[in-house]
Amino acid sequence: MMKRSKHNIYPALRIAGLFLVAALSASCSTTAPGPRPAANAAYVSMAGPVSLPTPLRQDIYHTVAPGETLWRISRMYEVDIKTIKKTNRIKDVRDLDIGQRLYIPSAAPRIDIVTLYPGRKWKYIIIHHSATDHGNSEKFNRAHLNRGWKGVGYHFVIDNGTCGKDDGQIESTPRWIKQETGAHCKADGMNEKSIGICLVGNFSIDRVSPAQMRSVVYLVKQLKEHYNIPSSRILGHGQVPGARTECPGKKFPWKTFNSYLRR
Ligand SMILES: [Zn+2]
Repeated sequence: MMKRSKHNIYPALRIAGLFLVAALSASCSTTAPGPRPAANAAYVSMAGPVSLPTPLRQDIYHTVAPGETLWRISRMYEVDIKTIKKTNRIKDVRDLDIGQRLYIPSAAPRIDIVTLYPGRKWKYIIIHHSATDHGNSEKFNRAHLNRGWKGVGYHFVIDNGTCGKDDGQIESTPRWIKQETGAHCKADGMNEKSIGICLVGNFSIDRVSPAQMRSVVYLVKQLKEHYNIPSSRILGHGQVPGARTECPGKKFPWKTFNSYLRR
């Protein structure tokens, strides 16, 4: 179980982060050939848990998560693709494996890249918990592959500081990057029409960390606005008609979540 601060809950909502919307520039055409956003997609980049006035760059290692391309990793740390390729002796940008450790020289503090794609497919947002005290996108990907699914069933995973990820880190999964149907809520046909967000943790016994709350509120706000999803269609998994589950946990702080969402 993780130790969490009891005071200063959700203090950082004010540092909502950098909101960047930009069209895909021509310079991107030489970058990763993997799943790439449409030309008119918007990019939302979010400040990391520690928002520093001057980026303090340092050499780091990064473990490749499902769906991550060199394009994405390059933007996460503001290091150009050529440098990452050269340092890691990568010949082809497609030669990237889940779990591969990359050396990123002079990396800026991580920024979570959330791409907002065009489309009218997404009508609901469903919040889940992992019902585990640890995890990340890679772990759920493996678990869901073992169930015979096409990899991690959620569209986003919000980490809790375990399994090598930062507390509050937002991971976009391949299902989001490829704009595919989820595998997170069968009830009421939600897999086809909803965006699935999983917070790592078991919120029947544990608390949502302040960093996770900050991230889920930020993420839901961006998605809600971009896809024009009303608040009444932002549901916990267990609130979906026909779903028999207490997910995202009996103690999920709906009051706090909803009040921050309204701000
Ligand atoms: Zn669930």
